[in-house]
Formats: sequence, C-alpha cells, structure tokens
Amino acid sequence: MSRMTERRLLVIGAHSADFVWRSAGLIAAHTQAGGAARVVSLSYGERGESGELWKEPGQTIENVKRIRHREAEKAAAAVGADFTCLDLGDYPLRTGPEDVDRLVEIMLDFAPHVVVTHPDKDPFNPDHPVAHQVVQQARLLTSGAVVQSGFATAPPSEFLVFEPHQPELCGFVPSVFVDITAVFEQKVTAMHAMAAQTYLREYYSQRAEHRGNHARKVSGDSTVRQAEAFMRIVPNVVEGL
Ligand SMILES: [Zn+2]
Repeated sequence: MSRMTERRLLVIGAHSADFVWRSAGLIAAHTQAGGAARVVSLSYGERGESGELWKEPGQTIENVKRIRHREAEKAAAAVGADFTCLDLGDYPLRTGPEDVDRLVEIMLDFAPHVVVTHPDKDPFNPDHPVAHQVVQQARLLTSGAVVQSGFATAPPSEFLVFEPHQPELCGFVPSVFVDITAVFEQKVTAMHAMAAQTYLREYYSQRAEHRGNHARKVSGDSTVRQAEAFMRIVPNVVEGL
C-alpha cells in the first residue's frame, strides 16, 4: 500500500506498556489490514509500573529502562508497530513546551489518520491524564486551530482514547469496539513480552473476552470472540448511515 493510501495509526502512552494492555489488538488488526502503526511512549514507567524488575537486588533505573525498552520494542514488533520512547520520566510524568513540540514533530512527520491515547481522567494514576493533555495539545497544534494556519499542519486525525484500568471511574464510555479475534494471539504475544507486569496478562485477556461479549451483543456477529473498547473524543464523518 502506498504512503498516499495507507492508513496510519499513532498510539501514545504515558508508560511503555500502556499500549499493550489497551490497544495491542487494535494495532495488530490495523497493521494486518495493511496500515502502518507507531507507538510513542512518554516514559518507560520505570518507577511506577515496573514492580517485578525492582525485586532484583541492586536494580538501577538505567537497567530498568533498558529492559523496558527491549520489552516494549518486542511487544510493538509482535503487532507490527514501531516503538519510540521520549524518556521523560514517570511518577511523576512532567511535560514542558519542548515535549509538546516533539509530539507535534512526530505528528507532522507521520501524519496519522488516527490518534489514540489515555482518557483525560484517572483517579488512580498521576501520569495518564498528563499524557492525555499533552497529546491533545500536540494534536490540535498539528491540525491547525482553523482551516488555514500560519504554521505547518497535517490533516485532522480521528481522536480516540483507549480503555483505562477502571473505566467507570475515568469517565470512559465505549463508543467503538474493535474486533480483535483474528489477531488475539498477537496481543497475547505482545502481553508476554512485558515481563515486568505479568499480573496484567490475565486481567486484560479477561477484559478482551468481556468486550467480545459486548461486541457480539451490539453487532449480532457471533464470530467476535475478543474485542477492545475505545471512546471517540471527536465525531467521525461518514457518508451515510
Ligand atoms: Zn501507565
């Protein structure tokens, strides 16, 4: 598929494993259909989401980051995506204007059709809402506040958030289910690559089954076994219903 017609998906997470639990199936389905996908992580989640690695005596931040980079790269490769980490630090994730600029550059270069990140609210996580704000800002700057802008822009992208750990408490109401049945094994492989958070594998496998049940119900398609849920932040435009 040529650059002109290929669909481009950009997934941005606060920590290097966030994309795996919440959107590895979407990414795999997207790349299997011939689309391109990039994953950008704002940090490695080296302090707050690498529990298993810190059980190792003498563990260091630099070593945890190295391992997390390898794991995320492997997980992204399992679903056909590139992985980049901006390494901004976690717990707390702090972003400045230059980090928005870096995301703008990435968006201008990749010109994604779809951007996916965290919801804007998470009472359990200090970093996820920060990621939402910075992605939201970069996307708006990239799209241009008006049709014609005095700065470089890329076409407006669809904007969705992926499912947080406790959806109700994060104001997450699904508006899109992606059928990941055909690529579920790829998601499992990606989850296995994240050795620092093995406890989440079972949880997110079950979530995929539950969402599969909901997707069957809403579509009447009995072949859907696993699904991932997303919420649209801006309406999408279709030619008819
Ligand atoms: Zn996270």
